[in-house]
Amino acid sequence: MSKSNLQTAQNKLLDWYEIHGRKELPWRNTSDIYHVYVSEIMLQQTQVKRVMEEYYFQFLEKFPSFFALAQAPLEEVFGMWSGLGYYRRAKNLHESAKLCPYGLPQDFQSLQKLPGIGRYTASAICSFGYHQKVSVVDTNIARVLARFFGYEEASEKLLWQCADLFLNTDHPRLHNLALMDLGSLVCTPKNPSCTVSQSGEVPLGREACPLADACKGFDEPAKYYKTKSMQYEDKQLHYGVYVQNGKIAMKVSTEGMYKDMLELPSIEPQEDEEKYLGFFKHSVTKYRLEIHLYMLRERDEAFEWLCLKSLEHAPVSSMTKKALEIVLKNMHRF
Ligand code: SF4
Repeated sequence: MSKSNLQTAQNKLLDWYEIHGRKELPWRNTSDIYHVYVSEIMLQQTQVKRVMEEYYFQFLEKFPSFFALAQAPLEEVFGMWSGLGYYRRAKNLHESAKLCPYGLPQDFQSLQKLPGIGRYTASAICSFGYHQKVSVVDTNIARVLARFFGYEEASEKLLWQCADLFLNTDHPRLHNLALMDLGSLVCTPKNPSCTVSQSGEVPLGREACPLADACKGFDEPAKYYKTKSMQYEDKQLHYGVYVQNGKIAMKVSTEGMYKDMLELPSIEPQEDEEKYLGFFKHSVTKYRLEIHLYMLRERDEAFEWLCLKSLEHAPVSSMTKKALEIVLKNMHRF
């Protein structure tokens, strides 16, 4: 692609962002690197709306700085993360704050040495937080680049090279934000706007996308981005419930995605119908889970006791919260 075509596309992209970009997002209107960092970690695997409405401001209010986060116990951090999922993110955030209580390093290499910060997050912090001339590639940008440059099976390395080639070095931050929004709002995985009909009559076509004139994938966007269907795994899990004096027995998880969080004691399936409390379904990552709950009579030294009245900010997953709702409905049986 010629240099002048790339420059024209860069300019059109910025014009588009000026009108359609999500410039109002709070983490785009701050110079506080801590705010940018928290938003980037929360936005991994969670939608913008959910992060903004339920977690971002609440988390910053509770832990207003790296120092405050570093001082907090991990259980409190998990408590504020409760329901957001992928709890390793919260643990990594907390560990990074403990390593850098007065702020993050400013260079790409040092950032990647911190827990949970890979190439994408380091580049996002450098670009969105420190306004450096670096390219950014997340899943949305990768899709736009693959289509724009016309690569059917682009490797990660090739996509970063494309991002470097396309980077607008005069306005790198805005360019990256614009590409991200274009991928999210226009060049979507299925039916990108350039292929969609307006009112089912006139195709929006080139009008929909600022990159359309130079886009190699314009005629056949699906060819350059193949949606992968998730391979689900069905599993049954069984948990015991022991309630005493308004407190419930929990255990600290020692492995897996809920490591270091509180969960109900895991047990073998029970035959005794009198002990059965109920079941519910829950999906997490590739797992479709069926969770069965039983009353438990045996105490264990490893139990942690959680007050049933203080569940809201307890360090428990949304799956455990669902289980606790069933427990609350069955309190008369304990
Ligand atoms: S023209 Fe279509 S395929 Fe190309 S970048 Fe724009 S929306 Fe994506």
